Amino acid sequence: MRSYHAGGLRSRGRIRNIARAGVEEIVATGCWTSIQPREAAALPNVRHVVTNDKKDYLVPEVLGLPRETFDLEPMDRVPIPGLHRRTRAFIKVQDGCDNRCTFCVTTIARGEGRSRPLADVINDINAALAGDSKEIVLTGVHLGSWGQEMNFHLRDLVKAILRETDVRRLRLSSLEPWDLDADFFSLWMDARLMPHLHLPLQSGSESTLKRMARKTTPDSFRGLVKAARAAIPDIAITTDIIAGFPGETDDEFAETLDFVREMQFSGGHVFSYSPRPGTGAAKMKAQIKPEVRKRRNHILQEAIGESGKSYQEKFIGQTMSVLWESASEYGEYGWRMEGWTGNYLRVSAVAPSPRWNEVDEVTLPDSKSGVFFGTIVRLSE
Ligand code: SF4
Repeated sequence: MRSYHAGGLRSRGRIRNIARAGVEEIVATGCWTSIQPREAAALPNVRHVVTNDKKDYLVPEVLGLPRETFDLEPMDRVPIPGLHRRTRAFIKVQDGCDNRCTFCVTTIARGEGRSRPLADVINDINAALAGDSKEIVLTGVHLGSWGQEMNFHLRDLVKAILRETDVRRLRLSSLEPWDLDADFFSLWMDARLMPHLHLPLQSGSESTLKRMARKTTPDSFRGLVKAARAAIPDIAITTDIIAGFPGETDDEFAETLDFVREMQFSGGHVFSYSPRPGTGAAKMKAQIKPEVRKRRNHILQEAIGESGKSYQEKFIGQTMSVLWESASEYGEYGWRMEGWTGNYLRVSAVAPSPRWNEVDEVTLPDSKSGVFFGTIVRLSE
């Protein structure tokens, strides 16, 4: 969604390269193709354009056969992650979105929201665990809407996973604030849920949020963050912000900056607004000059950087569990390990042997440029 321009450029470049390499029949598919099908069709040697909503039927469509000819496997299913021996398995439980945030191309690119059945999700998680993935991350384009069409809520899925699988670390990816209530955070009484929430704010100004068609306000966002912090001590809360949304006045930007400072996020991404073809915001008057977007982006990044640093400082001297995600030889010292705590602190330490995909206890003496250089005090068995 956010990398649309880069994705578009990349897709175009790849298709041209493939054509130059001599491939005479190219099938274009994916997000960029779904947004700009005519442009994709005009590229050299593109014979078929298959938009995302038809991707499940790509093979019969291209071969001109009836759909029933094939025993269809949904195309958006991620490969069973454990088989690739990843430390963290990203399990996609949902796709598409029914909202219409005015800056977002998701509904155009990915279609309406739809959830994967609970039993399929549990199967994939069990497969990932059997493949020795140590952490499961639930993902989706609009993860918080999982189960809506089946009269379920995401909390039902989380409860079922905790009840029916042997998952040791479970993490949720981005969640829209309006999908959650204070009660949702009682799930974290189970320590297997990692203390990290990514809640996209986008703007701290009520009027800008209205133009964005976001279903939240600064007040309700504040209430949610307060409830999360009361229920989950030391939780990391990260966010996304858009700088320079159309019509964003100096006052609105000041409101956002104040709100971002007040929220004390532990990290986040700031995106300079960039119009996406076909979206409501792209047609809005009063587009903000690129240099103003850039300046505001910089100021917001600084604010998030400062609160992120204060958050990290709270953990200096503590001993925490770290899942090692990479190991590289470190000469006579052994191995240099890199990994993450449950609340997403980046940690590096030296170990006598590679500890990749293990969860060890590490003391965190200090951090430099966002990385804690720790000492392993207890190895997992
Ligand atoms: S809720 Fe998220 S995915 Fe859906 S339209 Fe808004 S920004 Fe896009």
